[in-house]
Amino acid sequence: MMAQDSNICSFVDNYKQFLISKAILAENGECLLWTGYIDPGRYGKTSLDLHKLPYDLRAACLGTAGSKRFKSVRVHRLALTLAREPFSWPDRSLVASHLCHNKTCILATHLTFESNAINNTRKSCLRMGRCLGHHPYKDCMLNMHLP
Ligand SMILES: [Zn+2]
Ligand SMILES: [Zn+2]
Repeated sequence: MMAQDSNICSFVDNYKQFLISKAILAENGECLLWTGYIDPGRYGKTSLDLHKLPYDLRAACLGTAGSKRFKSVRVHRLALTLAREPFSWPDRSLVASHLCHNKTCILATHLTFESNAINNTRKSCLRMGRCLGHHPYKDCMLNMHLP
């Protein structure tokens, strides 16, 4: 891993630990399911304290140079973001997709950043019960899907 500012490292480590502390192993033995707040879209959500980050990274997260301190984020998107090395915010045009199709899963290896259009094609896979393929993007993990 590239050396990063110690503020960033502690921000990443603290939020990684926080996410893990609020997750349980699913019945499939693979997915890590969020047990905290669930939003109306049935995704896990939490609030980030951006004052724990250097100013340039706060601004990159908010999309403005504003002084807003807390940002509400979906936890699967946060989990995948925290897994990036070195740490950086993903392109806002990309969505964090669940390969396992379990909306509350926060396991980074079950998630991928891609366009909303690709993400939408995954809904057909779920309906069909098999992955129709998303080349060059990753295949769905339908064997992980929980009823
Ligand atoms: Zn999963
Ligand atoms: Zn698929």
